[in-house]
Amino acid sequence: MNVKILVMGSLNVDLVVTASHLPQKGETIIGGLFQTHPGGKGANQAVAAARMGGKISMVGSVGKDAYGDQLCRNLKAEGIDICYVNQIEEMSTGVAVITVDSEGQNTIVVASGANFTFSPENIISARDAFTGASVFVTQLEIPVPTVLEGLRLAKQNGAVTILNPAPAQNLPDEVFGLVDYLIPNELELSMLTGETNQKTAIQQLLDKGVQTVIVTLGSNGAVIATRNSIQMIPAFQVDAVDTVAAGDAFIGAFAIGISEALSVRQAAILASAAAALSVTRHGAQPSLPWRSEVEDFLK
Ligand code: ADP
Repeated sequence: MNVKILVMGSLNVDLVVTASHLPQKGETIIGGLFQTHPGGKGANQAVAAARMGGKISMVGSVGKDAYGDQLCRNLKAEGIDICYVNQIEEMSTGVAVITVDSEGQNTIVVASGANFTFSPENIISARDAFTGASVFVTQLEIPVPTVLEGLRLAKQNGAVTILNPAPAQNLPDEVFGLVDYLIPNELELSMLTGETNQKTAIQQLLDKGVQTVIVTLGSNGAVIATRNSIQMIPAFQVDAVDTVAAGDAFIGAFAIGISEALSVRQAAILASAAAALSVTRHGAQPSLPWRSEVEDFLK
């Protein structure tokens, strides 16, 4: 229990304004409520894993500004080690500017800021963070060369590696051979492979060297595929109100399951339970459940 998990990835502040409708080109409208929320897939997955009981270190970059301070404080309050989160002087913290209309439709513009200055050199200087980590988790909201270097270093240090390929983009082939668990959703699977047929897409990733592919299918659950086996993990039946961060809840909890040496199937069941609870609540980080809640849910 409580072995170290290293999460490398993005930290953003979500700036959310509600409005009666989404503005047209050139239109200015008076909106309603304004809220800021901590976000970024990296930070969300770190929080998801921390609440499931892991000892988490985060590696990433924010600006040396008020939002950067806010994000660091937030992770610290979740018990996450932030020694390796750089605060960069000349860059702004990543933000997502989100407008939501009365029907829940939205527009989102992300200014990645410090997340995209997070370079392979930054990883080299954070190499101590990799020592003793048993599981390494990352995504694609930071530059791909940085992801690649992180995967290399994690493997050199004997960690199990988990890549959530979101947002989906072209990856150099070397990445796949360094990944133990690749966890895309359906859309990411087809964008990553250029294949609409799920079986062919999964096979392509396994052929490129991924050990296990887990495709999350929303309310249809998840598929776990290796070279020798394929199995379904059904989703738990819940009343979904907001599916934002379902994938992040799944990945954080899955990492915990693997770090506790559960079987892949058991880790995926734990992950599905955490994700199911998250969709019954609003928001990203506020929706992520604690371990005790997940255990009660599974009783
Ligand atoms: P993402 O958020 O990355 O798009 P998915 O929508 O595939 O990911 O959801 C991830 C996991 O969350 C699913 O595999 C499932 O376990 C769980 N999940 C998502 N939507 C629901 C739902 N409506 N009911 C129950 N579980 C859900």
